[in-house]
Amino acid sequence: MSNELKALHFDADYTMEEAMAEAKRCLNCPKPLCQMGCPIENEIPRFIQAIAQGNFGLANDILGERTNLPAICGRVCPRENQCEGNCIMNKAKKPPINIGKLERFAADFESIHELRKPKKIVQTHGKVAVVGSGPAGLSVAGDIAKLGYEVTVFEGQSEPGGVLLFGIPEFRLSKTIVRREIARLEGLGVKFVCNTFIGQDKTLDELFAEGFDSIFIGTGTHIPQEVRMENDEVPGVFQAMHLLTNVQLVDNGVISKDEIPVKEGDRVVIIGGGNVAMDAARTCVRLGCSAVTVAYRRNQEQMPALFSEYEEARQEGVQFQWFASPAGVEGTDKVEGFKYEVMALNEDSAGIHGTGQYQVMPVDKIIIAAGHKPNDRLVGEGNNLQVDEKGYLVVSEEPYGMTSREGAFAGGDVVHKPATVVLAMREAKKAVDGMVKYMEIKRAMENASSAE
Ligand SMILES: Cc1cc2nc3c(=O)[nH]c(=O)nc-3n(C[C@H](O)[C@H](O)[C@H](O)COP(=O)(O)OP(=O)(O)OC[C@H]3O[C@@H](n4cnc5c(N)ncnc54)[C@H](O)[C@@H]3O)c2cc1C
Repeated sequence: MSNELKALHFDADYTMEEAMAEAKRCLNCPKPLCQMGCPIENEIPRFIQAIAQGNFGLANDILGERTNLPAICGRVCPRENQCEGNCIMNKAKKPPINIGKLERFAADFESIHELRKPKKIVQTHGKVAVVGSGPAGLSVAGDIAKLGYEVTVFEGQSEPGGVLLFGIPEFRLSKTIVRREIARLEGLGVKFVCNTFIGQDKTLDELFAEGFDSIFIGTGTHIPQEVRMENDEVPGVFQAMHLLTNVQLVDNGVISKDEIPVKEGDRVVIIGGGNVAMDAARTCVRLGCSAVTVAYRRNQEQMPALFSEYEEARQEGVQFQWFASPAGVEGTDKVEGFKYEVMALNEDSAGIHGTGQYQVMPVDKIIIAAGHKPNDRLVGEGNNLQVDEKGYLVVSEEPYGMTSREGAFAGGDVVHKPATVVLAMREAKKAVDGMVKYMEIKRAMENASSAE
């Protein structure tokens, strides 16, 4: 990465003095709009007041009442649309309190200085299995362990973390931080069993037979949506997640650099307009590609990526080709060009239509970032779990989050479609309430029948 790029994006952590000064700007509103904007209702003014008074350990404890992943949320949450977007300061045309950076300060301070080791909780209430260790699974694991249940997380990959580890790139979320948050959960007594795909290596039936009282499924969405283009079998067309995961695996020392599908000097186009497209594009910049273009069917206003992500990509030199709908791949043995149909806005300015005009952008690689759907190995038809027409798990309102399989709950992207870390956490937290209710009723019924 060039020095200019480093300088542009080095968002240094707060020193203690800076954190306290920022915290002191908070008006401690009696009706905190920031907290209302947080999907998991973090106790924002309380933790900020603790920082303002220099009580960083207390700030972290307050955060811990609602979240198990403060160092992560403080880095990747779309704060501009949530807590910070709601901050009262915006109304006074002043910069909002930098809530995310304060959250990450409190979490980092605690972990770096190891003020208090997490207390292992006595786990006598029952046994819970969690399938998948992304933010949804980790959130359930932490919340339910704190309530006194024995928790085992089963993860198909070699290491826990889900998209936090194998999707979001290092330059946005350090893997040291992810591993630190997971170690804190281990400190609470949560066990992790990796390299185990439930549905393949072990079934839900087997988990129940092993004595788990309830199971949470947080398996996310890992099957890429296809984009149909003429001639797309030519080598050099691949999925964004393949790139992002391989870059991480190279960093982990698991595979060699040759397995990164993009090379220095390549001209690449990324098809898509979401945050995954931005991450893939910015990763290509860091890999030394000579030209990086994001091609999107609509325009910037209609693009799903966060504005801040778009803006950072643009500042790093990523180009944007608006109104470009993928049509075909030029080349025989390798990619030589990306053919697209030029789109135009409908009269209502909401929809778009093809113009029948085609253009070719000369490129060496075509990267697809058009979204993901659930893998049906575990959650598909035939596994006794009801799914909707797109393959997402169907869950009940009461008890919240229960699938069609009694005792098996679900939340996060596998239910709610690809969303955000904090929304996966919110749904996981709500499912914990449902699981606890279910297990309490189950235990009461078992006690009643054994008393008969
Ligand atoms: C590249 C990228 C960048 C993103 N950037 C952001 C961002 O900046 N901010 C933000 O808020 N959100 C971001 N998101 C979205 C966010 O990461 C997801 O919404 C979130 O991770 C969903 O959490 P989850 O726990 O439901 O699933 P996941 O994080 O996908 O975790 C699911 C886990 O389940 C495991 N698994 C799957 N099937 C099985 C099985 N059968 N048995 C055992 N384990 C299994 C998987 O290996 C995985 O570890 C991003 C997503 C991507 C892909």
